[in-house]
Parts: sequence; structure tokens; C-alpha cells
Amino acid sequence: MSVRCCGGKMRKNNAQKCVSPLHFFFNGSKLLIEFCNRTDKTAMSHPYKTREGGATVTVFVPYDCRNHCPFCINKREYADCSGFSVEAILKSIAVMDAITPYCDFVFTGGEPFAQLDDLQRMLDAVPGTHKVYINTTFPVQPGCSAEEMLDFTRRNADKISCINVSRHLQRYVEESPDEVVGAIATPTRINCVLYRNYPSDQLTAYAERWRKYDIPVQFRYDYTETTPENLYEQENDRILQDLKRQFTYKGLDGCRMRNGFHFDYKGLHMTYHKTLPYSTIVETGEDGVTYDILYDLLIKQNGELQSDWTGEPLDVEKYRRVVYEPYDLHVIEGIVDF
Ligand code: SF4
Repeated sequence: MSVRCCGGKMRKNNAQKCVSPLHFFFNGSKLLIEFCNRTDKTAMSHPYKTREGGATVTVFVPYDCRNHCPFCINKREYADCSGFSVEAILKSIAVMDAITPYCDFVFTGGEPFAQLDDLQRMLDAVPGTHKVYINTTFPVQPGCSAEEMLDFTRRNADKISCINVSRHLQRYVEESPDEVVGAIATPTRINCVLYRNYPSDQLTAYAERWRKYDIPVQFRYDYTETTPENLYEQENDRILQDLKRQFTYKGLDGCRMRNGFHFDYKGLHMTYHKTLPYSTIVETGEDGVTYDILYDLLIKQNGELQSDWTGEPLDVEKYRRVVYEPYDLHVIEGIVDF
């Protein structure tokens, strides 16, 4: 979804026009962020660089969800299932594991829990060196009960770092009961897209809903609206101001690509997450070389490897020669100790 909730991501058609949105640098002990409006039409033609451990690999499962969230752009990718292949996805997982054996994998959709047998095959293909995340609605679906899905989480509790369950303030998906979400056997997080005219007066009740199960919440901004200029903008960010009024603001961390504003509500950790609608930054390093700095790689439903949410193919041979840099995620203000 231009907003990623269960994995969908919204994106702008010309998302790559600005290629170097942020620069982080230290002046003494103070982290400064410099905005750059440089436009580089040669984006995606440079050597690859990524963070130590490797870029996150997002796997689009070859199964659709049963929902129609208004902010979703993934839905159209599931309209035509020809070419979708678990076998091809398994091969691409093996390629990515061989290049970056410690990167994170995210399974998204569509709906990963739509076909448990195939999800099991894909999970089994990811060696234990990787962290694995699943974005899901934890759906109500025919032929597969909530208890079967919970059993799946129990059997795979050692393989899954976190299951992110979409539960929005406005109800767009058919929701299994909260008690079912509370019984998931792995660490769990709620993803909540705050879309357009969301009812801000319901935020506190919403936090109480998940505090009951001690499940942290990640609120999400409409990614189609995120730009390098407003990524770190605070005063005119309605969502941020609504959250600051109702919860205790703790601090901000972030990198060139995305950030998180952290809140506490009676011991419940909540984050407000913003990210750019693309995942490659073009930047010239201290070595004088201009790199495509990759944050997210994609394995599509047909196994195709892509280097960005914008549909750019991944040059696998070039990625085998990727240069690594320390992860540029920093605490920018306050305390982030959750
Ligand atoms: S639940 Fe389905 S329709 Fe809604 S955002 Fe996720 S993939 Fe899109």
C-alpha cells in the first residue's frame, strides 16, 4: 500500500526524481540532518551500496488477500496471477541468502496466511541466520480456522521474529477477534495506517484496545504523501501533533529513508512510522564514487528480484559486489530505549 500495512506499499509514479533526500552528519556530538534537492537522472546506474548485513528482502507471496483497503496499490498486482510461482520465489530466496546471509526477510502480500503450506515452505527456505517478519491481516478465511493459524505460529515461533498484524482505526479488513491476535505465539505488532480524515478522537481508545494484550502499535503515514521535505517535518504533521497531544512523546530515530517517532501510553510502546515511497538513495561517498544505496530489495510473486518499490530490476551480479556501510539509523532526539 502506498501505505504498507500488510505489506502493500503506495508509491508515486515518478518516485525517483529526488535521489538524495537527506544527509546525516555529526558536528561534535550533535547529529545534523541536511536536506538536499539534488536531482540525479542517472539514478539506478551506479555501483550498489547497502548497510552492513544487507538490504531487507521483502517477499510478495503469490496469494491475494480478501480486502480492498483504499490506500492499497498492491491489489492490482494480484489481479492477474499468471506467472506467480512459489518455486521461483524459493530460488530467489536462495540467491539472496547466498549474497547476504544475515539480511532481514519480510513476507507480505496479498496475504501470507492465505496458504499455510506454501508459507511453511517459504519459511523453511530461510536459514536461521536471518530475522523473519510477516505482514498479515491474520485473516478470517474459509477453510482455515483461527486455531489452525495460531498452531502455525506455535510451530514456527523459533523462525519468526515478529508478526505484524494490520488493524486500522477505520475498519477496512474483516478482522479476526482481538483475542485471536493476542494469542499469536510469536512477538506481535499492530500496524495501523492513519489515512486521510481518520477519527483522531478514537486514538486513546485504540491504544487501550491493544494495551489490554500488551501488543505494541505502529501508526503509519500515507507513503504516497511522504517526501524528502516532509519526512522529518514536525509542526505541520497532523498525525504527529495528534499523537503528541494524547500520548507521551519519547524520542525520534531515523535514517535517510525512514524514521520513527516513539510514544508511551501507560507502558505501551507506540511508534509513528514514516518512510519515503522508494528505497534507493543516490549519493557520492567519501571515496568519490557515486553509489545507489539500497534499503529494500523485493522478490515479486513470480520470483523476479527488484532493487526498489518502483519496479527497478535488481542486477544480481552487481549486488554480489555490493559495498557495505554502517547502518545510518540514529537516535535523533529524546530517548529511544524500547
Ligand atoms: S489487506 Fe490487502 S487490500 Fe489491504 S492493504 Fe493489505 S494487501 Fe492491500
